[in-house]
Amino acid sequence: MLNSGSSSIKYKLFDMRDRSEVAGGAAERIGGAGSRLVHRDGSGAEQVDAGAPILDHGEAIDRIARLLGESGVGADEEALSGIGHRVVHGGETFREPTLIDDRVVSAIRDLSSLAPLHNPANLQGIEVALERRPDLPQVAVFDTAFHQTIPPHAHRYAIPHEWYESHRVRRYGFHGTSHAYVSRQAAVFLGRPLVELNLIVLHLGNGASAAAIEAGRSVDTSMGLTPLEGLVMGTRSGDLDPALIFHVARESGQSLDDLDAALSGRSGLQGLCGVGDMRDVLAREEAGDERARLAVEVYTYRIRKYIGAYVAALGHVDAVVFTAGVGENSPEVRERACRRLGGLGIEIDPVRNRAAGHAARAIHVEGGAVPVLVVPTNEELEIAEQTLHCIRNRR
Ligand code: ADP
Repeated sequence: MLNSGSSSIKYKLFDMRDRSEVAGGAAERIGGAGSRLVHRDGSGAEQVDAGAPILDHGEAIDRIARLLGESGVGADEEALSGIGHRVVHGGETFREPTLIDDRVVSAIRDLSSLAPLHNPANLQGIEVALERRPDLPQVAVFDTAFHQTIPPHAHRYAIPHEWYESHRVRRYGFHGTSHAYVSRQAAVFLGRPLVELNLIVLHLGNGASAAAIEAGRSVDTSMGLTPLEGLVMGTRSGDLDPALIFHVARESGQSLDDLDAALSGRSGLQGLCGVGDMRDVLAREEAGDERARLAVEVYTYRIRKYIGAYVAALGHVDAVVFTAGVGENSPEVRERACRRLGGLGIEIDPVRNRAAGHAARAIHVEGGAVPVLVVPTNEELEIAEQTLHCIRNRR
């Protein structure tokens, strides 16, 4: 699978016979100073190609293919069945992974105004890969697609109707591949069919989102038109009063672009306490930093409010699931996010919560009404799975 950004391309090669990761890596700072390619083979051994500068996405993909070839993977050979591309925004056009042709490329381009930082960058990778390997089926896997099942009462904003009609303003949601993967894995862990379950999934990474999932279908999520809405994130604000933007613009004279950049890049944990990485925030809090303590309180309180809201949205809940960097690794955050939820049957066991582990595990109290789980996500494998499924069904 390829995840192509404006100055980076991440890649992973899977052997789908046993779903093992054969190789992976990333080309970084493409087109800039210090560009390099970090490649890992199946054993995890790392190789860094920091020789000639990587000038553009074409060169990055050629060098990735060469490295895969050198480590005996043979990406140029017939063994490769297809390429899955991560695409951030599928709008209302794409409800599922889709085989890429010219029509699909132009539809993704047409959606660029909804994700100006992401879709054009995703397309750069797609166009080069199509040009290099026109013989291979290539599939676009959209971050938004899983959430297309969200009903109108949950995805529409109460705004002038023509903003929806003319500007496609509605809630779309993101992290769809992660929410889909994690909800399936949670069902496997619980030993119950996904169609019988109501789940709340909390994807807490650099970006963070909650999803309410009924019978395997997303019925609400915290991110909206863009990934800015919802939970507090590393550098994004999450929910706020939209009128504060007008207030700050009038008072400070900053432009809309300045405010956009501030709410996406200098807000969230970073805005509250000066650092956006949860490990650093927790270390500062431990050292007695009051702003860091407040940042964790704001972050976890927001999660708790969303859990409460999604219990109400779903009617009843069969499990609350934590995933991604913070969700999988921070017992402090999990504990504080679930504080005071005993009345809803959600209660964490402090010992189980702190037990180390990399596999899916339960952390709720013995006999707790609602299981609370930690389930590692794997967005790359999910993209590979969906790609294979799409190629087999040729749609
Ligand atoms: P991305 O959204 O980029 O995929 P990840 O899912 O890898 O991000 O999550 C990154 C976040 O996870 C960072 O904020 C990082 O600090 C946090 N994280 C990773 N390990 C821990 C840990 N042990 N404790 C707290 N936070 C952690």
